[in-house]
Amino acid sequence: MSINVDLLPPDNRGVCPQELSFGNTFSDHMFTQQYDVDTGWHHAAVQPFHDFTLHPAASVLHYGQAVFEGLKAYRRADGGINLFRPDQNVRRFNLSADRLVMPRVDEQFHIEAIETLVQADQTWVPDQSGASLYIRPAMFASTPQLGLGAASSYVHFIIAGPVGPYFKEGFNPVSVYVSEVCRRAVIGGIGEAKTGGNYAASLFVGEEAARKGYTQVLWLDAIEGRFVEEVGAMNICFVYKDGTIVTPALSGSILAGITRDSVLQLAPTLGYPVKEDRLDIDTVLEEIASGEITEVFGCGTAAAISPVGRLAYKGRDYTVNDNKSGPVAQRLFEELTAIQYGTAEDLFSWIHAIA
Ligand SMILES: *Cc1c(COP(=O)(O)O)cnc(C)c1O
Repeated sequence: MSINVDLLPPDNRGVCPQELSFGNTFSDHMFTQQYDVDTGWHHAAVQPFHDFTLHPAASVLHYGQAVFEGLKAYRRADGGINLFRPDQNVRRFNLSADRLVMPRVDEQFHIEAIETLVQADQTWVPDQSGASLYIRPAMFASTPQLGLGAASSYVHFIIAGPVGPYFKEGFNPVSVYVSEVCRRAVIGGIGEAKTGGNYAASLFVGEEAARKGYTQVLWLDAIEGRFVEEVGAMNICFVYKDGTIVTPALSGSILAGITRDSVLQLAPTLGYPVKEDRLDIDTVLEEIASGEITEVFGCGTAAAISPVGRLAYKGRDYTVNDNKSGPVAQRLFEELTAIQYGTAEDLFSWIHAIA
């Protein structure tokens, strides 16, 4: 199958702004393809960015069959463009699709679609330090059908937009709020899939956290309400006094982050041993209070590494490293982003250069 490419005339294209935020500016084009059970995937195209027309009974609007991904294209110093681990990204896209009974996409073809889109929208890959082109692949069920069941038609699309450095005022720690009541995902549920439903489930506590002055939510396991799982759209890591980095083991209700996996591979090469474990929230907070844990950081595509300076649980506030970013998070951030932007050697073959 080939991608039908239909681009805007150069004079009608937009210009990548200098001031960048997250998620409200989009490039000139998008990729789409359609699926139905009889013909499989068809009509693959890169076209000018456009709205969708949806039947009001489209199953995604009622039963939520939708999955998404997030990855970035980074501008190298030589003007070329790097994708970071797109193979892992599309692999997870298909695992999410499996869980929601949606059709798989061809992994090579999906990466080719990203390449075609990014090449068409090359001028949208910013070159400011710390900026990148955020790429959002997604799929939703489009069948007009109110009867409950897996849909028979789907739309797979990829959009992109330039994003600025995550930290506008430097590498500043975020604060996290731990709910005593609400849970994001349960083992056996859909927590391992990257699907909108998990986010819908998290918004309520997100609002509560924001009202109380915290920027992120740290989730506990849903069965015992005791084990640390992850933070919103990031996995979480704890640094112990001896330099060991510990992150919650994938339990079945944690999203398996590609940044998390990259940290687990990269950190030992920098002299930080890593461990995946079950982490009890009470023990973790005691260890933060006693100084046994010296740093806490989140990891995800959006920020790469995001230091955590404050945690709130059961009405108490716990400060990590004086609410300042620490050396381990700093080092990992520098090393990881150096690989992404092509200034450090790609020891693990994570980079997919496209220009
Ligand atoms: C996407 C996501 C992450 C981070 O995954 P990366 O592949 O590192 O970007 C972590 N948790 C949740 C719930 C996510 O949706």
